[in-house]
Amino acid sequence: MDESTLIERLVAIGWKGSRAVLVGPGDDAAVLRGGLVISTDMMVEGVHFDFDWIAPAEVGFRAGAAALSDMAAMGARPGALLVSMAVSGDPAMCEELQRGLRRAGDRVAAPIVGGDVSRSPGPAVVDVVAVGRARAPVLRSGAEPGEDVWVSGELGGAGAAVAAWSAGGRPAPAARDRFAAPPDRVPLGVALAGRNLARAMIDVSDGLVTDARRIARASGVELRLRQALLPLDPGAGGDLKVALEGGEDYELMFTAPPGTRTRILELGQEMTVRVTRIGSVESGAGVVLEDREGRRIDPGHGGYDHFAAPGGGQAP
Ligand SMILES: [Mg+2]
Repeated sequence: MDESTLIERLVAIGWKGSRAVLVGPGDDAAVLRGGLVISTDMMVEGVHFDFDWIAPAEVGFRAGAAALSDMAAMGARPGALLVSMAVSGDPAMCEELQRGLRRAGDRVAAPIVGGDVSRSPGPAVVDVVAVGRARAPVLRSGAEPGEDVWVSGELGGAGAAVAAWSAGGRPAPAARDRFAAPPDRVPLGVALAGRNLARAMIDVSDGLVTDARRIARASGVELRLRQALLPLDPGAGGDLKVALEGGEDYELMFTAPPGTRTRILELGQEMTVRVTRIGSVESGAGVVLEDREGRRIDPGHGGYDHFAAPGGGQAP
């Protein structure tokens, strides 16, 4: 069973609909009536990170930043974090994790208001619940044919670091930094929502192609991405595959009408965040990738699947 099938089954068990819930499972966060936005994000040692790669405080920072990235993707202003952690031994490690988590929360003035701690007989686990508010949350389902597809920042740096570590090597410093310290895209996400620029939005956490497919599916459209336009992170060393499939960049991908191009570019300048138009929304389904000559190329399986068959998590 793959990850998305498992999630579908879990949603079928857990979700029956509620008048108190405006947006249920299936987006970057749930939205309760009244505008409360809430999401959870888990990091597991040996799956998402390794203490041989980065220090405990960096793991904490990453976990906090990843959870807050889902708030950014909804255009929500974060208010607080709840943190649960389980570690195998040293309580000092919990303190280091917590210091990193607090630094991530401090970037957006979201204090840690509670949590839980446990001994783990196995790998360390950090789970972060983020709570925020949005007057007009931006969903994955709002994309319409004719719109542009945009992405913030640069892609592939974090994926290149993971690839280097997984191969027993050491990543380039730029790639390592990109993995250890995901960007804060909350101000951009909040502005895109508040100025009614983004029509659909997601954070790039599982790979550009995988996350583009999620917008395509939720909106009932095709996303056509152009290889030549993709902003590659210098840490990715020009590796297109890692930019498309690597994931964990925690950048924002969003769609917007062509009439808003100037305003979006101005917003990027105002926030000193690179924003790049990488494709278009078409009628159809799925994700199409075009090379420099406009020929369709296989976007691949694209992304990490926690429950794929052994050895099949990443695209071959
Ligand atoms: Mg997300």
